[in-house]
Amino acid sequence: MTSIRFEGHRYELASGESVLECLERNGRETASRCRTGVCQSCLLKCRSGDIPTKSQHGLKASWLQAGYFLPCVCRPDASAAGTLDLVRPDDVGLDVTSRIVARRTLVDGIVEVHVAKPEGFEFLPGQFVHLIREEDELSRPYSIANQPDEDCLRFHVRIVPTGAMSPWLASAPLDSPLRLRGPSGDCCYQSGTSQEELLLIATGTGLAPIFGVLEAALHAGHQGPIQLYHGAARRGDLYLKEELQRLEESHSNLSIHPCVLPDGGRGEMSLTQMLSDAALSGRTSLKGVRVYLAGNPDTVSRLKKQAYLAGADLSSIHADPFLGSGSAVTTPVSATAR
Ligand SMILES: Cc1cc2nc3c(=O)[nH]c(=O)nc-3n(C[C@H](O)[C@H](O)[C@H](O)COP(=O)(O)OP(=O)(O)OC[C@H]3O[C@@H](n4cnc5c(N)ncnc54)[C@H](O)[C@@H]3O)c2cc1C
Repeated sequence: MTSIRFEGHRYELASGESVLECLERNGRETASRCRTGVCQSCLLKCRSGDIPTKSQHGLKASWLQAGYFLPCVCRPDASAAGTLDLVRPDDVGLDVTSRIVARRTLVDGIVEVHVAKPEGFEFLPGQFVHLIREEDELSRPYSIANQPDEDCLRFHVRIVPTGAMSPWLASAPLDSPLRLRGPSGDCCYQSGTSQEELLLIATGTGLAPIFGVLEAALHAGHQGPIQLYHGAARRGDLYLKEELQRLEESHSNLSIHPCVLPDGGRGEMSLTQMLSDAALSGRTSLKGVRVYLAGNPDTVSRLKKQAYLAGADLSSIHADPFLGSGSAVTTPVSATAR
């Protein structure tokens, strides 16, 4: 039986229970959001004890060395005995300070927020960071849409009218301070893949990481064909249309496919069905194709499964489900491997 030591208290983990569930059962308040190991909001640090490697998936190397892990997916083996000595994230240097420097409206309801790139901050386009509001520590993950050679980080933010963070990002005065935690995630262009076909599929602001991957591929001189599908409920929700069209005109191996639901989404067809029909159904096999999926968690999860069943290697599927609190995912993300 594994036990937890946390802020002066000791708790026994029940069989099959995650560390997060154990802390909550004992009335301890810790941050959490997606609860599937994707958003990394629940990050804790283990000072001693054996943490299952699965609960460190997707964390950057320096965090692994420091003992960080994700308690929502940390379920120590029931037969293992030992104590996990846990603390909240405390490292000086885990977060870096920044500020909002500019923004522009992409389409109604979606803004591009520019955040100053801190000195020495390194990332791969398509990775995500947590933006942390200084005044109350509110934290949400957002994907980086631009290349590292700029002096800012660009984020595509859909304004959720009832949301705590997105309306603030869209309206806070310029120069508002925030912190960055990360980067994390593997939804980024892989070197050594320049001959492969790339299949890039985004819904809504899922275009942020996909655009980052696309530009990184083109900058790297990608040789293989690149197909990009951007799905939205309404034509007015598609954005960066001119930029994508310009890139398509200047790169013969790139095809852009804007996809909009018939009847503005009032009909029966779902985003998943539309993108599946457009991007996957005409193909005999996805063997050898590198697939990137980002945006709506349910669509990402289902298309990931379909891509795998169509022959794509699991290690060639990069999925970024934009899980928030209470996001509905009918196919568990964990069941279709990240
Ligand atoms: C890895 C990762 C990367 C992400 N990247 C991006 C990105 O690049 N751009 C981006 O816009 N978002 C992105 N998100 C989602 C983002 O982190 C927030 O969840 C989102 O902005 C809502 O935050 P909020 O505080 O405004 O709303 P919350 O206060 O968290 O939610 C308020 C209410 O709105 C609901 N809600 C939350 N999101 C939506 C939604 N999209 N549509 C409808 N209802 C919703 C919630 O269930 C809740 O009931 C990403 C998420 C993850 C996990």
